[in-house]
Amino acid sequence: TREIRLASRPSGWPEQANFDLTETELPAPAEGELLVRNLFMSVDPYMRPRMNDVKSYVPPFQIGEPLDGGAVGEVVESTVDGFKPGDTVLHGLGWREHALVPAKTARVVEPIPGLPLSLYLGALGMTGLTAYAGLLDVAGFKPGDTVFVSGAAGAVGSMAGQLARLKGAKRVIGSAGSPEKVAYVREKAGVDAAFNYRDGKVSDLLAEAAPDGIDVYFDNVGGEHLEAAITHLNTYGRVALCGAINQYNATSAEPGPRNLWLAIGKRLTLRGFIVRDHNDRFRDMVNEVGPWLRSGELVADETVVDGLDNAVDAFLGVLRGDNTGKMIVRLAE
Ligand code: NDP
Repeated sequence: TREIRLASRPSGWPEQANFDLTETELPAPAEGELLVRNLFMSVDPYMRPRMNDVKSYVPPFQIGEPLDGGAVGEVVESTVDGFKPGDTVLHGLGWREHALVPAKTARVVEPIPGLPLSLYLGALGMTGLTAYAGLLDVAGFKPGDTVFVSGAAGAVGSMAGQLARLKGAKRVIGSAGSPEKVAYVREKAGVDAAFNYRDGKVSDLLAEAAPDGIDVYFDNVGGEHLEAAITHLNTYGRVALCGAINQYNATSAEPGPRNLWLAIGKRLTLRGFIVRDHNDRFRDMVNEVGPWLRSGELVADETVVDGLDNAVDAFLGVLRGDNTGKMIVRLAE
């Protein structure tokens, strides 16, 4: 079988040479393990900071070791009650065609009629929960709020925008990095107004899109976007600090928002969060998002790349913005 290992640590933008696609042999599963044939794997922005040798909320990838991340696969061999060959499982050992998965880190998931299993990596998985908990619990969204979402054409952003609309936002504003994506978020991702952040100063573009200011900012980007949001947040505005993708490839620390002092007079709340602390909301999310997906009121588009050979490119593509909706690597049929 084949797996992708970290060959070296990048400085700035990662390159193919930082990764190594290697043949390896897997032993038979030990007691407590499952042999899984991976069908889909996730490539996510947070994997970029994990390529650095720094302490964070997830340990860094190790040089010479395979990368890991969310995956959905089919059990081939099981040593554990509750898992049998043919079961579909969600687990954390992506970046390889086959995996020896400790059963306690795997969860059996049911196929969803008419919908792809990859949704367990996206709208019905970590992505959906990030948008759901971030908007409702971290930002304390209330019906009638005006919501601004950055990265609005991406996996989390497109969910956050649609959830805000379905939950009764007064107005939803989204930003994205190309005219095609701006059209996409206007038509499909739940927003009333959208702009391309490359078209000018984010603060000016946001002022035009949100003439009455914003109450909630769902931040996937950081940097200039966060500063612009602080300028345009209304009194008692709330920010869910979800991601800061504009920093992930930076080689030096960028200064923070220069206008943070405005948070005092406006009584703003800026709150960071990590999705895994919100697992208690998983059922609520699935119970709300599932029916909306089936009825078509909520769309969960994917950009699908085929094969482990193209996984690195898919990952680099997420950082570049090649994806609309969730970037997924399909490893097998
Ligand atoms: P996306 O599907 O949104 O993909 C990333 C997108 O970021 C790209 O498509 C690109 O879109 C955009 N982007 C890249 N560079 C920049 C930049 N410099 N400025 C603005 N936009 C940029 O990924 P996810 O939905 O998986 O993740 C979105 C954010 O949420 C990330 O920051 C991620 O780290 C964070 N996250 C946080 C979690 C948590 O627990 N806190 C959990 C999951 C995700 P474009 O073409 O529009 O530039």
